[in-house]
Amino acid sequence: MVVTEQKPIEEIVESLGDEKDVFIVNCSGCPEGLETGGEDEVLKIKSELENAGKAVVDWIAIDFLCNKELVATRLIRKIDSLQKADSLLVVSCGIGVQAVAAIVDKVTRPALNTVSLGGIQGKWRSEERCQECGDCYLAYTGGICPITSCTKSLLNGACGGYKDDRCEIDPEKDCGWMLIYQRLKNLDRLDLLKQARKLRNFNNMMPSAELRQESFWDIEQETAK
Ligand code: SF4
Ligand code: SF4
Repeated sequence: MVVTEQKPIEEIVESLGDEKDVFIVNCSGCPEGLETGGEDEVLKIKSELENAGKAVVDWIAIDFLCNKELVATRLIRKIDSLQKADSLLVVSCGIGVQAVAAIVDKVTRPALNTVSLGGIQGKWRSEERCQECGDCYLAYTGGICPITSCTKSLLNGACGGYKDDRCEIDPEKDCGWMLIYQRLKNLDRLDLLKQARKLRNFNNMMPSAELRQESFWDIEQETAK
């Protein structure tokens, strides 16, 4: 199971900027088990977004967002409301957000932070990766992870060393920031690269003591017997 925590609603609203209409995608896998997702959580987010002057045009729950084929077949049924949305908000781990972003030509944002507690995705067979960094940046990068797609895990743009769109450290690999730039250009959302964002708190790379205790509590109790 992949461990997630909810992002503060203020951070989500701020990242939406002037966008008004949002479509929510909920993963019914790990987030439901952890109660960071599920119908109650989606309706809570919907109400908070509406209080902030946004509109939720529709929402969908999909069993496992870490199954790209399943995501594509389920989302196609919602094509009409997807077309009305300015962007998508995804209640899942970083892999689920990347899966939706790879399928839908809309800006796709995370509602959760994925926490480093050693969890693995259930069904993922695609090339995207999440390093469970605790402070998901996909809202600003067109749904491509800068931590895992850039060899240096740069957060604010390319290092300048890329050549022919390949990484200077690993020429076999596409430059992650060129991929991000191209994705945002295709979406006509290069403005997101200029959007102010909060400074990253690298303490988030480590899960809180409270969360560590919650996750390992049962195992520790069993071991102590
Ligand atoms: S920014 Fe990347 S590594 Fe961090 S939670 Fe999001 S997908 Fe995972
Ligand atoms: S060339 Fe691109 S992927 Fe490689 S380190 Fe620089 S910005 Fe990152």
